[in-house]
Amino acid sequence: IISVQGVTKDFGSTVALQDVTMTVDRGEVVVLLGLSGSGKSTLLRHLNGLERPTTGEVEVLDWQVPSLRTGDLRSLRSRVAMIFQRFELVPSLTVLENVLTGGLSRLAGPRLGLWAYPQAMRTAALQHLDRVGLLSKAYERSDRLSGGQQQRVAIARALMQNPEILLADEPVASLDPESSDQVMRLIREIAADESLTVVCSLHQVDLALGWGDRIVGLRHGRVVLDMPAAGLSKEQVMEIYGRVAVTTT
Ligand code: ATP
Ligand code: MG
Repeated sequence: IISVQGVTKDFGSTVALQDVTMTVDRGEVVVLLGLSGSGKSTLLRHLNGLERPTTGEVEVLDWQVPSLRTGDLRSLRSRVAMIFQRFELVPSLTVLENVLTGGLSRLAGPRLGLWAYPQAMRTAALQHLDRVGLLSKAYERSDRLSGGQQQRVAIARALMQNPEILLADEPVASLDPESSDQVMRLIREIAADESLTVVCSLHQVDLALGWGDRIVGLRHGRVVLDMPAAGLSKEQVMEIYGRVAVTTT
């Protein structure tokens, strides 16, 4: 469902990705593991056309992403949802309105106000909020929620797209351990329920090992590891990265 072949990405003199090749099968849950600056965000941004490779091929859902025109790019993005480290909710809007914006690309204009959304969308948004355990917060301002709750709202917003692929860029990097576990568990459950394909970047080995089907490790923009998570121990990962080079907590 995703194929990245020989992708190199330069930003001026910075080489963010170097000859990266990886594939992801439909339904797979893959962790992109790497330290700060290793290229995780840049690689994720190639998968929904936010970046174009300097050289190499990126194919997602049978589309050649780098050569897509605006219309097809929009179609691709409607099937590929993304969540972020800083949640990126609109703070002044209610939780429910934030979730509803996830379905907006199918409507003419943005910011319609709650009651201007079609009934079916409001129903779907409430269902997704229920799915992430936040139905009772629907009418609260989103900035009154805890970090973990805000990320769950962002997940509900992503579900409004009925995506086939979920990209998660360090979704728990600003959360405490307990909320992190909760959010990571929720992503897995939803991926299973909705048959989602997930690519999730993380910098914590411990979180990654217990979570993904497969781990792809990046270091200085290169793939240094690509293995099923089940066969992998923390020691092996540390061996590949060097003992001090990976955050473990
Ligand atoms: P972090 O854990 O800090 O989010 P990351 O693994 O996501 O790091 P990237 O953000 O992909 O890493 O960055 C990889 C390299 O590319 C870094 O050296 C970064 O400075 C550089 N880079 C990324 N985006 C740009 C850009 N738009 N312009 C210039 N350099 C960039
Ligand atoms: Mg990043």
